[in-house]
Amino acid sequence: MKTIVNPRQMQREASKLKQEEKRIAFVPTMGALHEGHLCLIRRARKTADVVVVSIYVNPTQFGPKEDFKRYPRPLTQDKKLARQAGADIIFAPQNLYEPDASTTVSESLYSQGRCGKSRPGHFDGVTTVVTKLFLMVQPDVAIFGQKDAQQCDVIERMVRDLYFPVKIIRVPIQRDRHGLALSSRNQYLSPKEYQLALALPRALKRAAQKYDVAKAKLAKQRVKKELQKYFHVVEYVTFAGGALCAAVKVGKTRLLDNVRLKKKIA
Ligand code: AMP
Repeated sequence: MKTIVNPRQMQREASKLKQEEKRIAFVPTMGALHEGHLCLIRRARKTADVVVVSIYVNPTQFGPKEDFKRYPRPLTQDKKLARQAGADIIFAPQNLYEPDASTTVSESLYSQGRCGKSRPGHFDGVTTVVTKLFLMVQPDVAIFGQKDAQQCDVIERMVRDLYFPVKIIRVPIQRDRHGLALSSRNQYLSPKEYQLALALPRALKRAAQKYDVAKAKLAKQRVKKELQKYFHVVEYVTFAGGALCAAVKVGKTRLLDNVRLKKKIA
């Protein structure tokens, strides 16, 4: 497995692979890899000749009061895990922004509401960095997790609108044995916070199973009320893309989850 840190070198390597008619699968991550990321890498391995995994904690998708500085960066361990899961190239740039960068890529429909509302500017950071990464890695296919469902919606729209020659694959959410969606941020949780965090998938799952389209508004209110018993901040509870989605905070840690709705009853 190769490690590349220079964006131009990544671009040259990708162009060379293209000339050799190699199919490139790409998994963008911010590192602190867990089983959720590894499933994406394994999926990539099945679809292409060369698997590129990027590890880059992208500053522009964090708000000023968010956890950019303390975000975990265990690069050595990440490389080992990525290699075992099937990565051929780790792309771990130090920085992807010129100090006076003045270009951003922005999506204006799917990025509204949900996380877009509670994290202003977040999706502009995502679309901008994913565009840069696509231009460097030149993937045929890119793999994203349904854990960040709104991010998938935004990226799919961006790829369509900008005619990126990239196929987007979504991989289902990977959970731990107690049902909590895996996340690099879960390591911030104290044991007590972890127990509280389990209320999120529990409430979503229960409501999604009982979903009745005629009572959707009531269901949302019920889930919100239920979550407020456990979390001091419930950012949103909403139905989107055939799933019940929510974001909450436990202590300083933001948790995001969604559960697919069962067959619609009404
Ligand atoms: P991140 O490192 O948090 O930016 O995530 C990188 C990619 O991994 C994104 O496409 C995420 O949606 C995906 N991902 C993160 N956690 C999970 C999970 N529990 N299950 C599936 N995919 C995930």
